[in-house]
Amino acid sequence: MAYNVEKSDQEWREELTPNEYAVLRQAGTEPAFVGEYTDTKTKGVYNCRACGAELFTSDTKFESHCGWPSFFDPKDSDAVELIEDRSHGMVRTEVRCANCGSHLGHVFAGEGYATPTDQRYCINSISVKLVPADES
Ligand SMILES: [Zn+2]
Repeated sequence: MAYNVEKSDQEWREELTPNEYAVLRQAGTEPAFVGEYTDTKTKGVYNCRACGAELFTSDTKFESHCGWPSFFDPKDSDAVELIEDRSHGMVRTEVRCANCGSHLGHVFAGEGYATPTDQRYCINSISVKLVPADES
């Protein structure tokens, strides 16, 4: 798949911190409960930390107690790309930024959370950047 933002591995390494690179470009996972946005309730929009695309809004963030920021719906359905992930002996659905292909996390369905979609987009804090809404 071709992305709007295409950069070489070298360019990504130069633009991202080593920790950001490991998650966004190598599909790593940050440890549970340590991410910057795990319990954040600030209103705003979560942008892709690699390319700046708008991915999720605080309106769809919910308390999943899973240790990572969780959303029940992307900002726009085409803001993210879903890919079957068979790594680590599991079948999961990987969530990537549709604009640059960077890894964001995974989406799980049917877990019984009281949300409109019964989906949990389990997203690494380090994959996104919160842009707080104007309080005015
Ligand atoms: Zn992106």
